[in-house]
Amino acid sequence: MVAYGAPVIGEHGRWLGIVVVIHDVTELVKLEQVRKDFVANVSHELKTPVTSIKGFSETLLYGAYKKEDTLLSFLEIIYKESNRLQMLINDLLDLSTVEQVGYEIKLNKVKLYDVLIQSIEMTNHLLEEKNMELTLSLDEKVEVLGDSDRIMQIMMNLLTNAITYSSEDTFITITIGKDHKYGYFTIKDQGIGIKTEEIDRIFERFYRVDRARSRNSGGTGLGLAIVKHIVEAHHGLIKVESEVGKGTAFTVYIPLMNS
Ligand code: ADP
Repeated sequence: MVAYGAPVIGEHGRWLGIVVVIHDVTELVKLEQVRKDFVANVSHELKTPVTSIKGFSETLLYGAYKKEDTLLSFLEIIYKESNRLQMLINDLLDLSTVEQVGYEIKLNKVKLYDVLIQSIEMTNHLLEEKNMELTLSLDEKVEVLGDSDRIMQIMMNLLTNAITYSSEDTFITITIGKDHKYGYFTIKDQGIGIKTEEIDRIFERFYRVDRARSRNSGGTGLGLAIVKHIVEAHHGLIKVESEVGKGTAFTVYIPLMNS
């Protein structure tokens, strides 16, 4: 709270009172804190891979390159960390696009089934690595008003998370259907689950329930923040149901083509 006061003087210098203007700056202070946290997070996330790339390349330059197995293993680390940097920069650019005030998507007729099949093809190698299987229950006719590339981005993010936060040999169930004015898809895993008190926070930029696990699996902590903005730009909704140790289901609702 910030208050400014000024005396009000009338004719002949008569004292009439004081005008006090009070600004509630709570929201501004909160926003400033969010901005500072974001910058601190970005700096930290960028610093870690850069430090590692610099350290390992320096050691190689100072002679370690002469030992072939050291050379190979250090190059692998450098490659992995540069990939991480690239992913982070891509996600940051994406986030800044979808977070822009007035960001609009190109709306067209989109068949959820077609986009889902493409998303599955793109993530299939991850499913195979963990020997996971899909159970599908799909209404092939559902058409929504949306941007197919962005809807694919949502599906890929949710599918990748479902795979990342599940153990090997488990199932992911995907449903496509209609509900009132919305077409929807649900991606349900049998993974580690999310505590109720964490559910709202997972959509925050850089929020991760388990930082180490997310980093190790290549996550940037920005995926769900991006997903949320894309869903909002579609005037859609996203719902999460989860039970720790049992699994998580994300459902995304997008307005139907003819709603
Ligand atoms: P990340 O890149 O870390 O996966 P996201 O923004 O996609 O970032 O997700 C934020 C956090 O939400 C994750 O770090 C993880 O803790 C949690 N999370 C997301 N999806 C799932 C899921 N299907 N099961 C369990 N936890 C999840």
